[in-house]
Amino acid sequence: MTRTPLSTSLDAYEIWFVTGSQTLYGEETLRQVAEQSQAVAAGLEGLPVKVVWKPVLKDSDSIRRLALDVNARDDVIGVVAWMHTFSPAKMWIAGLDALQKPLLHLHTQANVELPWADIDFDFMNLNQAAHGDREFGYIQTRLGVARKTVVGHVSNPAVRQQVEDWQRAAAGWAASRSLKLARFGDNMRYVAVTEGDKTEAELRFGVQVNTWGVNELVAAVEAASEEDVDALVQVYLDSYDVAPELLPDGDRHQSLRDGAAIELGLRSFLEEGGFGAFTTSFEDLGALKQLPGLAVQRLMAEGYGFGAEGDWKTAILVRVANVMGAGLPGGASLMEDYTYDLVAGDEKILGAHMLEVSPSLTTAKPRLEVHPLGIGGKDDPVRLVFTADPGPALVVAMSDMRDRFRLVANVVENIDAPDLPKLPVGRAVWKPAPDFATSAACWLAAGAAHHTVMTTAVGIEVFRDFADIAGTELVVIDDDTTVRGFQRELRWNQAYYRLAQGL
Ligand code: MN
Repeated sequence: MTRTPLSTSLDAYEIWFVTGSQTLYGEETLRQVAEQSQAVAAGLEGLPVKVVWKPVLKDSDSIRRLALDVNARDDVIGVVAWMHTFSPAKMWIAGLDALQKPLLHLHTQANVELPWADIDFDFMNLNQAAHGDREFGYIQTRLGVARKTVVGHVSNPAVRQQVEDWQRAAAGWAASRSLKLARFGDNMRYVAVTEGDKTEAELRFGVQVNTWGVNELVAAVEAASEEDVDALVQVYLDSYDVAPELLPDGDRHQSLRDGAAIELGLRSFLEEGGFGAFTTSFEDLGALKQLPGLAVQRLMAEGYGFGAEGDWKTAILVRVANVMGAGLPGGASLMEDYTYDLVAGDEKILGAHMLEVSPSLTTAKPRLEVHPLGIGGKDDPVRLVFTADPGPALVVAMSDMRDRFRLVANVVENIDAPDLPKLPVGRAVWKPAPDFATSAACWLAAGAAHHTVMTTAVGIEVFRDFADIAGTELVVIDDDTTVRGFQRELRWNQAYYRLAQGL
């Protein structure tokens, strides 16, 4: 079988930069439009996704052709459009109607300062994005085209940051559209929020969510060779602070070898199937010797999406967040709101899972340990133990509201954790914005899940752009949130999203 290692890099992607104009102005002006738009596109060099300048568009058919080319190319994940001059917008109708990729409208200008003393009408004719882009805004709104609008000169760091955020969201969208997700076993029995409409998920997010019997994974684990196990154990010894009992001469070394075989089997299964995300279920482990802990933690840190207890919706979010954060410090992980410190005015949330928290949340060297697990009825699983680094973070959950998916995000701050000598799992301790009581009340009002993706690599703006691109509801709990205002937003959204779906 061919094996395809998972890519989480943005290097193979392109964004096309298109400039609108018309033939009215004559050759000389159009030559300047081409030159200056190349300079604007060059001003976006150095962003995570390469920006490729395309020849100036002057008529309806070339615009439509360009949209069809963009649609046909998997490596082109979005379009930046700018109307340097006036591009009569009816010529954009067919193209915008055809375009199926994320769109960013860059409302900019070639120059920063106006050369006041030298301005003549040739200058005015050339530099009229101020109204050319308004014409373009009109037709986008008239057609109901989802897009991000960014305003300002490309030399402004705030403009570049907004374009970068959108690029990352577009990359997350491209990853989602091509994502294959393998479930080993079903959802945890009787649990509501991890259920959902997998057909709708493929329609909305492009993700193929399908289930395999866990014994197929067991077969892949049993196929792991002793040599490969030896090599992977050496990687563990080099990478982690390994508990003495797990060392080659320790009396529990076999547990580490069993964990390595699980990682090798999981990896081969995922690579052979071209999967970028997966779920497990502690209620359905078949002949697996341990609940996969270490293996899941390491695969998440490499870019895979993962959800525990069959939670495929969170697995999608972990994969998307990993792609959106590619190349940035920090990482993305399954997280679960576990328990609270309710000291008034200093409330904290302790988040963790049975085992499956990604070590990409820490820059410290994790400890590799083995301990009993109260549920699952299997051998003691090996796991990485660490605390997430302090710093800004975001938790995002996805709920199936029956007629749509709802994303709920909370801006949080990870803090230094007290010593937790008797809690041998990966974990994070955070304070949610705007305060604990408001955050929790809003989270509960939204029907948001107890599983989330925690990302320490990307902020809320990237997730906002992703939700806009996906046409999916996102409600945000941050420093501006009040319970009353949030409840009103939920009610309005209920109406808006139902109307927006049509009858
Ligand atoms: Mn859970």
